[in-house]
Amino acid sequence: MSRARNNRPAPYNPPKCWVGDKHKICYPDEETAEMSAALIEVEHGLPSGTLSYYHCEYGDHWHLANSPDKYHRH
Ligand SMILES: [Zn+2]
Repeated sequence: MSRARNNRPAPYNPPKCWVGDKHKICYPDEETAEMSAALIEVEHGLPSGTLSYYHCEYGDHWHLANSPDKYHRH
């Protein structure tokens, strides 16, 4: 397989982990999670603050949560 010229950036393939019964994308730090949340809100026309983010309890990374109340237990 030759990977000669490829002007396109390689698709970002973020790591994921199981949270509850689904895969969730892992963000390496709070800043990235915050930025991604803002980006997704814009893309989907959601009011700012719809998405929240939280530190994963299974690893040193962050996840987005679209229903903040669900993840409020601490
Ligand atoms: Zn995780």
